[in-house]
Amino acid sequence: MRKTSQRFVTGIAAGTLLLASSQLAFAAGQAKNVILMISDGQGFNTLKATEYYKGGKAVYESFDVKYGMNTSSAGRRGNYTGQPYSPASMATSFVYAKSGATDSASAATAMFTGVKNYDNEVNYTTDNKALTTFFEKAAKAGKSIGAVSSVDWTHATPVSVFGHNIARGNYGQMAKEAIYGSNPNANNANYDAGNYNGNLKVVMAPGNPWYDNNAALRTTPNYGLIGEQKHWDDLVAGVNGWNLITTQAQFNAMMTGDTPDKVFGMPQAYDTLQYNRTGLGGLNSKKAPYADALNSGVPTLATMAKAALNVLDNNPNGFAVMIEGGAIDWANHADLTGRMIEEQTDFNDAVQAVVDYLDAGTNGNTWDNTLLIVTADHECGHLWGDGRVAGSTFFDVNGNGVFDHGVDYAHVKNNGTGNLPETWYHSTSHTNALVPLFAKGANSDLFANQVIGTEPNLKGIYNLDSNWDGKNTYIDNTGVFQVMNMAALATDISAQVSAATSSMAYNRVTRLYNGKLTITNTSAAPISGQLIVTLSNLSTGVTLTNASGMDNGAPFIKPAMSGDLAPGASITVPLTFSNPSNAKINFTTVTFKN
Ligand SMILES: [Zn+2]
Repeated sequence: MRKTSQRFVTGIAAGTLLLASSQLAFAAGQAKNVILMISDGQGFNTLKATEYYKGGKAVYESFDVKYGMNTSSAGRRGNYTGQPYSPASMATSFVYAKSGATDSASAATAMFTGVKNYDNEVNYTTDNKALTTFFEKAAKAGKSIGAVSSVDWTHATPVSVFGHNIARGNYGQMAKEAIYGSNPNANNANYDAGNYNGNLKVVMAPGNPWYDNNAALRTTPNYGLIGEQKHWDDLVAGVNGWNLITTQAQFNAMMTGDTPDKVFGMPQAYDTLQYNRTGLGGLNSKKAPYADALNSGVPTLATMAKAALNVLDNNPNGFAVMIEGGAIDWANHADLTGRMIEEQTDFNDAVQAVVDYLDAGTNGNTWDNTLLIVTADHECGHLWGDGRVAGSTFFDVNGNGVFDHGVDYAHVKNNGTGNLPETWYHSTSHTNALVPLFAKGANSDLFANQVIGTEPNLKGIYNLDSNWDGKNTYIDNTGVFQVMNMAALATDISAQVSAATSSMAYNRVTRLYNGKLTITNTSAAPISGQLIVTLSNLSTGVTLTNASGMDNGAPFIKPAMSGDLAPGASITVPLTFSNPSNAKINFTTVTFKN
């Protein structure tokens, strides 16, 4: 039940209690499912180059919710400090973005936990504590969780769904966490080994010790990516309820029909599905996509995504999954436009598969109950066009009206469908550039609360089209966690609390109305977690000026908390309203915890 309307008469006003019976607009927690899709190493120009080659945009580029995203980390332990993105620096220096970039472990940690940490460290704080990821929280709340990638499953991004380690290279330790649901760092009291145990239902990614990068059977297995032979033997034996699948036919079969409860899918390839097969060219090779025959016998990322969803959606409580195109980054490190386009296409096809799944309302999962986020963890390669090519356009960093290579931002030039676009890599590493974020579905509007800045040159630098008109703000990557957490894990506790409002006082100096709301735990059990108090049906023309954010048009406030709210205990929430027309201030409170 949702309750307690508050009414204020202008000025001093005594509250009148009303009962709300209508369905309220506020909808935090409406996302039963969260699907986070990450193109590792994707920048705006990665998307552009792929669009030009394919002759069309990826499906998610038309999503209404779109932002730039800052990817900076806390820096590197004992080394440099991460620097948040600076539009002014970007506008004046071509090389600016090349310094101080995050790595995939810290980027994943920020997105999955909401905490900035050091590069190369997986869900590990700067002061050596293991963090609980959104996925672990979702698992604890009864949802199924999973990790899917086109690169090996102990690589930084997929492993950050469930792993915790001071070093991303400790593959074996983090492999243990997935396989056995147990903590190899038993001396770390902050780690809750039971968080996901039992609800990590899907891991699907290469790393198969018996196959090489050409998807060919080895004579001697290589256990390097999963730590040790015992891990493989135990998975084969079905340890911890896992059903191991490896063949393309097994992945295909997993896309439809009944499935086992837990599926560990390791395609017959070593560290990538396709990227690392024979034929990689040298730096800035202009080899066309698919010039080398694709590995046979391995699934696409789209197939794995469909298989993963078909396992995860067995759970009536919903699911949370991370699906990564992992080798866009690898191609960008090697400055290989052709292979990058292959990998980005594989990723885009996987997003299309997920969109189709939701469009069809598969197993009751729709845009109304599912949040889909499509983003990147960082840009890689400092990829631009080559402005020296006739017909190229560019963003004029030094303002001299002519293109200066290595100074101005050249736009990727379209050479027509099926032809490599004109590109030029200016780095073999990650950059600090903004990456794109797209979202659609349940609670996707919550991203509006995460904006931390504006990049006035976003369209100009990247030659973006009208889809981006009026959309030049950016969020921080920790905002991905904030949105997923509130969208999927906020629960309505209005029936466990009462809400009482004080009289309102008008402040002639600030011209604002001040009052307070007292939330009391009327249940017999302590309430833990962050309270979120929403003011639904707020009078027209009245604004809650100290709101923490908006959801579906309703302002909400997150009061400062000091631990659990004991039975009978209260918390006081200050409220400040702007009310230029001196209207009656009416609203209905709905209280959530997160
Ligand atoms: Zn990388």
